[in-house]
Amino acid sequence: MNSAGIVTVSYIIATILFILALSGLANQETARRGNWYGIIGMSIALLATMIGVVERHYEILLIALLVGGSIGLFVARRVQMTQMPELVAMLHSLVGLAAVAVGFASFMDPEKHFAGVELTIHDIETYLGVLIGAITLSGSVVAFGKLSGRISGTPLTLPGRHWLNLGLLVGAIWFGYEFVVQSAAGDGMEPLVIMTGIALLFGAHMVLAIGGADMPVVVSMLNSYSGWAAAATGFMLGNDLLIVTGALVGSSGAILSYIMCRAMNRKFFSVIAGGFGTAGGSVAKGAEEMQGEVVSLTAQEAAAMLANAKEVMIIPGYGMAVAQAQHTVNEITKVLRAKRINVRFGIHPVAGRMPGHMNVLLAEARVPYDIVFEMDEVNADFPNIDVSVVIGANDIVNPAALDEPDSPIAGMPVLECWKGAMTIVLKRTMATGYAGVQNPLFYKENTRMLFGDAKETLDEVLKSL
Ligand code: NDP
Repeated sequence: MNSAGIVTVSYIIATILFILALSGLANQETARRGNWYGIIGMSIALLATMIGVVERHYEILLIALLVGGSIGLFVARRVQMTQMPELVAMLHSLVGLAAVAVGFASFMDPEKHFAGVELTIHDIETYLGVLIGAITLSGSVVAFGKLSGRISGTPLTLPGRHWLNLGLLVGAIWFGYEFVVQSAAGDGMEPLVIMTGIALLFGAHMVLAIGGADMPVVVSMLNSYSGWAAAATGFMLGNDLLIVTGALVGSSGAILSYIMCRAMNRKFFSVIAGGFGTAGGSVAKGAEEMQGEVVSLTAQEAAAMLANAKEVMIIPGYGMAVAQAQHTVNEITKVLRAKRINVRFGIHPVAGRMPGHMNVLLAEARVPYDIVFEMDEVNADFPNIDVSVVIGANDIVNPAALDEPDSPIAGMPVLECWKGAMTIVLKRTMATGYAGVQNPLFYKENTRMLFGDAKETLDEVLKSL
């Protein structure tokens, strides 16, 4: 077999491994295997490309691999579990940057020998690659800023923002036409550069306009964009594997965005248009306007309450990740189950800061999969629950989502723990969650607040148990 044949076979094997990786990742029990399929597939793809596709400048490739690989290794080792969503956003921005760089390089390549229709097709591929890449780049950088708290989560609602978006879109189409026409005459750099500026502006504006609670949709959407950017790069370079891989990432990201929208009861296009919840007064509603009294309890009292329960529902949220309390949660679960108490976990689809965040933490702590349930599977059961334990969660258990039509999270399904006999909420202060909305749950008669860092408090609960 010649080298082209070996590359083709390697690419087919890598593609199959990527598909197996995706199907493996769909289930907690097979996720580890899925990861391995992905790692092996990517190694094969890299090796085949380096040996079979690259013909010159090996030294540059080696330096790039060493520098990029070292940075990747350093960042991956240092990153905390709580910073994973920001890291993912940052990595998406790099895919966008790569698509822009490859687009410009491919346009400026002095050795390219396209003419006529072929040139037009190549130009369209280049233009789309740079367009999607630039939107992904600036959108992901803003998403990184929002997720890490460097940029405010409040939606930016410029007057006439929909017209601005429409103007930018029309501009991008017009310069696309200009680019193709000018490129045929041996020029075209100017429209390409102007469009890159427009796309960067569009990406940043799009994410800036999205409210805090809708960020999960944006994260998965940018994931999808990064895939399409990679696929566009594949078209520019004539690399089949990149096209297939990009399409896999693009379509799975799109499916995830759809699932996220459904989980949050949002319409995809409304989220993209942004500005949710800006009409409402709930964000501004102060704690003093909340009805009722906040009643707290001690870890010992919480332990006694749990020991006397028959049905317990644990609701983890972002604070469990911050406190790294998942191992203690598992220990408490074991003790309670040994007392023949039925313990279950209720997982909200947007709990934490990335899709599947809570499932990953619970799997790491070895909580049995068969007691971890999705929101829809347990929500009707709360009237039968003796004690719900909300661990560092806030927005996902906020009754305002159901009761206050002008709330930024209005319409989002939440875990309705207040319908149970008693809810214990673990958090450090009365502060709001990611969406910045006050939570009436804390003031309900059957809620008890257990203030403090979740890990420290749960350690005390465990000791008392
Ligand atoms: P929230 O952000 O609503 O609430 C987390 C709570 O945890 C805070 O109120 C905080 O209160 C508490 N907390 C923080 N640190 C600790 C600690 N060490 N110990 C105890 N408590 C702690 O999280 P939820 O999981 O309830 O909801 C997720 C939110 O994030 C939603 O609004 C969702 O839309 C958004 N989001 C989700 C993404 C996803 O893909 N899942 C992506 C981006 C955003 P206090 O400071 O008082 O301790």
